Amino acid sequence: MVLDLNDYVASYDDFPKKGVKFRDISPLMEDGKAYKQATDEIVAYAKSKNVDLVVGPEARGFIVGCPVAYELGIGFVPARKEGKLPGETVKASYGLEYGESSLYLHADAVKPGQKVLITDDLLATGGTIEATIRLVEDLGGIVVGTAFIVELADLHGRDKIKDYDILSLMKY
Ligand code: IMP
Repeated sequence: MVLDLNDYVASYDDFPKKGVKFRDISPLMEDGKAYKQATDEIVAYAKSKNVDLVVGPEARGFIVGCPVAYELGIGFVPARKEGKLPGETVKASYGLEYGESSLYLHADAVKPGQKVLITDDLLATGGTIEATIRLVEDLGGIVVGTAFIVELADLHGRDKIKDYDILSLMKY
């Protein structure tokens, strides 16, 4: 039976601050069938792009990307926040829907020419994905696709990454 994944996304008004409607994929992750269905869709997309490596930004990008990498038998690279990676890093700064932040990759984590899929739970303004793309490309990776569980279409994140292919399982 194919599930309607919309039934597994919760909405919270005024979180994390007033005026923001937060979409939460916790119910999807808590339900094995829904989590598997979402993962399987992203795995099929990754296969169509001949992906060599999955990269995901902290923290929910890990939840989406790790099972995809596992299923494909390829590596997963975490894009982490300030002060988390012990080795030499590359850095990209970006503006969030609510705030400002930086992401880092270990400088040897992506090999030149590797075909990379970037995963995250949600595409909002596109700042996070755009910064992650910059990091991957700094290291010589080729971003062949981006995959999200949820896209907040009103925030026009996809306009920021017009040159890249996007899979979003649900749009609000
Ligand atoms: P963007 O950089 O504005 O596209 O925001 C996307 C990033 O912020 C993702 O890593 C999300 O996890 C997080 N985020 C922004 N808005 C929401 C939301 O409504 N629900 C869950 N995560 C969000």
